This record gives sequence, structure tokens and C-alpha cells, in this order.
Amino acid sequence: MTCLAVVDLRKRYGGTTYALDGVTRSFGIGITGLLGPNGAGKSTLIRCIAGVENWDDGSVEVTLGAGGRRPRRAVGYMPEVVAFPRELRVRSYLRLVCSAKGVRKAWRGEIEEKLLLTGLAPVADRVIGNLSKGYRQRLGLAQAMIGNPPVLLLDEPVSSLDPINVVDVRRSIRFYARSACVVVSTHQLAEATALSDRVVVLDRGRVAYDGPMSDLGRGRQLTFELEVLARDGDALRVVVDSWNAAGHVRTIRAGEAYAVTVPEVTEAELARRVAVLVSEGCGVIGVRPVGDALEEAFAHAVGNA
Ligand code: ADP
Repeated sequence: MTCLAVVDLRKRYGGTTYALDGVTRSFGIGITGLLGPNGAGKSTLIRCIAGVENWDDGSVEVTLGAGGRRPRRAVGYMPEVVAFPRELRVRSYLRLVCSAKGVRKAWRGEIEEKLLLTGLAPVADRVIGNLSKGYRQRLGLAQAMIGNPPVLLLDEPVSSLDPINVVDVRRSIRFYARSACVVVSTHQLAEATALSDRVVVLDRGRVAYDGPMSDLGRGRQLTFELEVLARDGDALRVVVDSWNAAGHVRTIRAGEAYAVTVPEVTEAELARRVAVLVSEGCGVIGVRPVGDALEEAFAHAVGNA
């Protein structure tokens, strides 16, 4: 089910280069990661959808609301940097957000729910100016979630958080995304992998890739290291030498364990070579890509744009 549709969106900030150069995409329930190098147009796209930025051409349509209608506040938005009134207490600030978003009747329950969801309950009565960075980022998330908007836009929501905060914030986002359309922009590949099944990669204002994170590098040649158990190391070397002069075999444990480097192969070719090893009586007990496989796959996707 489509919750959010962006059609041929174009935006430029003076000059001739488009920050968004005809972006057309639909988004449904769940988390979509918005990836791209710096300057790719991620923040611009998020700001246009959030309605805080105008665009030159195209349209943004939010189609899911209570009872299928467009709700009054359809979109929740967490900018990369949220400016808070430092002197307010967390609960009072969220009360203000409720008023601004037209959450009038059940605002108390709404605030308590979002305090719990984002892990802010222990600091609900603290002054915002005294909060740690992690708690302020959680508050940015809570304000965006107030009113349960069917579309939630998060611009770099875990940038500069410590690992414990990252895990907690991811959990809150995943919980919310069970019944909402969540778009998370990030330039961190590990973050996109952890949060989203689907990623949309932007490059110079255009969509360079849209699909599962796991397919981003499909067809790409990578270098792998296999952990192999073999009775006869010399026989193993002969097999590897027959593949490619650049491959090599290294003994990693006394006895029968070897690390075998398989350079520059696709996953299909790797599977074929593993099958050859197994048919030669070797046990393959571990496979790992060498180097920045994810980053290489990403660069490949951007290079194709
Ligand atoms: P990203 O979020 O992917 O890093 P942005 O959306 O911030 O990319 O920027 C896309 C392009 O638009 C960049 O070339 C950037 O310099 C330009 N840009 C973004 N905001 C403004 C602005 N307010 N004024 C002028 N140019 C801008």
C-alpha cells in the first residue's frame, strides 16, 4: 500500500544545477533508507516532503490517513539538527508540540506514550538545556512522532550517538514503522543496513538505485576470504592456482585450516569455486568479503547513475 508518492520532483537553489532532478518514488509501510553521498539531495527531498521547503516542479502526495483520509498533520519530521527551547522541560515542550499539531483531547496519554517509546520517561521533568546529546536526539524523535503521523521523516536520526543510544533509537523507529511509512536519510551504510530492507540511493538529485540493501552489490566483483579445512595443503594450492594467479592460500592454524583468498569474483562465481573445493574433499567453514564490500557496492550503484 502506498502511503507517500513523490512524482517528478524538481528543485534547484539558483544556478542551473538541480538539487532534485526529477525524483519519482512511492513509499509504503515500513522503513526505507535514503542513502547517498554528501550533496546528493537527501535533505532537500526530506524537507520538500515535510513541507518546509518549496519545489519547482512535480508533486508530493500523502495518501494514508485515519480512515484513508489525509490527516491534518500527515507528516512528522525530525531535521538533522533540532532547535529546542533550552529552558523548557521535556514534558512541557511536548505539550507545546501537541498544541502545534492539533492534538487536543488525548494529549496527556499521547505525551506519556511517546516518552515511553523513545526512552525519555526518566528525564521527562528535566530542563532540555541540561539533557545529553543522546536524550536531545530522542526528543527530536518524540516530537516528530507526536500525533502519530502516517509518514515519519528522519534526517540522520542516529548521527553522533553512542552505541547504546543508537540501539535504543533504532528500536523506537522500528516499533513506529510497524504501522507507518518511515523514511530515514543517512550517509552511513551500516545504518541503512541495520534499519531498512529497502534503500533508495540518490546521486546528484536522481535515483541511482532502489531495492533491497542486500542486492546493492549484486553482479559486482568482490574479493572474499574462505576458511577452508583441507587434509592436503599442497593439493589445495594447486586448485587455487588454477583459478587465478592473484589467489593465494595461507595456513591459519597448525594442522588443516587455511585462509584462501579469492580475488574479484561475483557471488555466483564464488559459489562455483566453493563447490569445486568441496568436490576436492575440502570443508569450507567460513566466507567473508575482504575490505569495504558495502562501500564498494554503494560506489558501484552511484557510478551507474
Ligand atoms: P544531502 O542531504 O544529500 O547531503 P542536500 O539536499 O543537503 O544533500 O543538498 C543537495 C544540493 O543542494 C547540494 O549541492 C547543496 O549544496 C545544495 N543545497 C542544499 N540546500 C541549499 C540551500 N539552502 N541553498 C543553496 N544550495 C543548497
